[in-house]
Amino acid sequence: MVGEGQNIEVLISAEALAERIAEMGAELTRDYAGKDLAIVAVLKGSFVFLADLVRAIDTDCTVDFLATSSYGNETESTGIVRLALDLTASIEGRDVLLVEDIVDTGLTMKYLLENLSTRHPASLRVCTLLHKPSRTQVEVPIDYKGFTIDDRFVIGFGLDFSQKLRNLPYIGHKVG
Ligand code: 5GP
Repeated sequence: MVGEGQNIEVLISAEALAERIAEMGAELTRDYAGKDLAIVAVLKGSFVFLADLVRAIDTDCTVDFLATSSYGNETESTGIVRLALDLTASIEGRDVLLVEDIVDTGLTMKYLLENLSTRHPASLRVCTLLHKPSRTQVEVPIDYKGFTIDDRFVIGFGLDFSQKLRNLPYIGHKVG
């Protein structure tokens, strides 16, 4: 069983996630109706959120991926971000929605916003499942936010612990 023998506290249940993501999808459907929506998801952490979110968006869109890596250990980023995988298609003139799992210090998002804006999208907005405002090092605009959480290292629903536990169906926290 996933997470067996590990003491994991549920912070956001699968039901609460489904409910909130349905609301976010409805809001995005309203905001992007008739627009040229290009969803750009940040691997790997966003893949579970993305899969649920796109199915809650009832308007045409494309989906592309990029990945970042930041130097540092498992839980602390150094703030030096680089692109590990780039988009496969141009976003010029398109309405880009950047989808992230979590905005923590904001350094990754700041880097991505700067990088993507040089490619001249028609618009560029941020959608994140989680936000840890207590950890902010740089302010970044967040247009769509699932949940605000406390300063705890969270796992599950795409978020990893040493690359594992991404398949937990809820957002949790390891206790002890
Ligand atoms: P930031 O650049 O905002 O500090 O961090 C962005 C990335 O750090 C996230 O996309 C995520 O991959 C990772 N991260 C930040 N906080 C957490 C957390 O609580 N749990 C996990 N699993 N990853 C996190």
